[in-house]
Amino acid sequence: MVMPRKQLLARDAKRDIGAEMLLSVRQLNAGLGKVAYRIKVPNASTPAAPCPLCGQGQVSAHIDQAESEYKGAKAMVPLRYTVCSACKSDFADAEQGRLNKLAVLAFRKSVDDKYSVNPG
Ligand SMILES: [Zn+2]
Repeated sequence: MVMPRKQLLARDAKRDIGAEMLLSVRQLNAGLGKVAYRIKVPNASTPAAPCPLCGQGQVSAHIDQAESEYKGAKAMVPLRYTVCSACKSDFADAEQGRLNKLAVLAFRKSVDDKYSVNPG
């Protein structure tokens, strides 16, 4: 699952690295650094898991960017999901669902932090 170079460049052109770094620092300061973002890297020596829905196809993990909106602020957050090669079902397993939720919560927290008065 390699993103074509053109698509990659187009995506990166829209990224705000400074904002992403700031978000990371805020997450670390908030203690979220202890949350491990485990991304399963497909291992060529491990056969892909069969589809839990149809039992026919092989599933593969994908990550897209999905727009999230909170209090009028918008951000692209990573959306993890699994796709079956046979029935084409896409679904998030428990771990993907957890990571998707964490990504949205981190974005919302960054919005709340931005508009909250800093007590320091
Ligand atoms: Zn399937």
